[in-house]
Formats: sequence, C-alpha cells, structure tokens
Amino acid sequence: MSALPSSYDAMDLPLRCRCGRMRGVASDVSPSTGFRFVCYCKDCQAFARFLERADVLDPAGGTDIFQMPPGRVRLTAGTDALRCLRLSNKVLRWYTNCCRTPIANTAARPHFPVIGVVHSFMDHEADGRSRDEVLGPPLCRIYESSAVGPLPPNAPGPPSLGVFACRASRMLGWWVRGLGRPTPFFDDRTKAPRAVPGVLTRSERTAL
Ligand SMILES: [Zn+2]
Ligand SMILES: [Zn+2]
Repeated sequence: MSALPSSYDAMDLPLRCRCGRMRGVASDVSPSTGFRFVCYCKDCQAFARFLERADVLDPAGGTDIFQMPPGRVRLTAGTDALRCLRLSNKVLRWYTNCCRTPIANTAARPHFPVIGVVHSFMDHEADGRSRDEVLGPPLCRIYESSAVGPLPPNAPGPPSLGVFACRASRMLGWWVRGLGRPTPFFDDRTKAPRAVPGVLTRSERTAL
C-alpha cells in the first residue's frame, strides 16, 4: 500500500463548470480506465464558438476529450443548468447555461456506453493533480485536416491500429460490465435527453 497516489491509481476526479454552479464527480479515473484524445473536427470547434468559449480550444482548434463510461459520471449539483446542442444527428453536445461551459459529448441515444468529458468541466485545481497526471497524455488526435493552425509541438500522433483496438476493447469492457448506465444525461425511464437538444438554423451554423 502506498501513501501517495500514483498516476496509475484510479481515483475520483471532481467536475465543475467555470462558475461552480454545476458540479459532479467522475469516478475510477485513470489512464487505463478511459480514452483521452484531441479532436480537431469542425463540430467541436463550432460548439466552442457557439458557447463563446473558444478559450477551451488549443491554438489549432483542438478539444481535449476523455471518453469514459456513463455509469462513472455523476452530476451532483446545478443540473437545472444542463443544456444540449445537436450539430449532427449522431452526437449531443452538453453544456451549462450558467457560464456556457462545454461539459461533455454523448451519442444521441442513451445506449452507447461512452461519454466524452470535455476538459473544461474537469476541476484539476480542486483535484491538485495535472490533467496529464490524472488521465495520462492524449493517445491520439483525430480530424487534424480541420485544424485551423499548426498543431502544437506536443500534439499526440494520429490514431494507430493499436490505439483503435485499445479504445474498442475498453468500450466493449464497459458495455459488458454494464457501465453504460445510469447516464446523467438521459432519463432512465423515458430514455429522453435531460435537456431538449437545441438545433441551429443553417445561417446560425454558417456564422460559426
Ligand atoms: Zn456555471
Ligand atoms: Zn470533434
């Protein structure tokens, strides 16, 4: 038994929107219990701009995301501030309307056993450890063709077959162990999203 936590111990990570109204906990978080990557896709960038939170993007427009099972994410306060936006048919993008913090991406239906927690919802200050210590470094980058500038020198590489296989086997494990539920973003009984997904008009979308 060691007295000091190492980066390989799965631990709770506090979640908090920028203003502190919405709070939550991600449990059993470690480099091996989730999948961290950086996404440069246009929708992630549009989401940040819609929220007027371009500050959550890296200089090339990347979003740092940690995918983990829904059953390990809990919202503990301020859930009345929960909102979501739908930029494509497959993904719901969740945020708070108190301070417009991007918090997570999920599939549009509750059955898919993955939540992509956006780094801006992680309270590393309260946690006392850096993101790299808690989550390990990002394992890959995706959609780099949509990057808006040169990638940062420390950007992770494109996904290898091994990285894809690793993600697939972790997701399968979560599904097998029933960690796909409960999810804080969908009603357990009706399966409906806990906020009505907002949709942008074509001109609103183009403006982003
Ligand atoms: Zn807030
Ligand atoms: Zn993306």
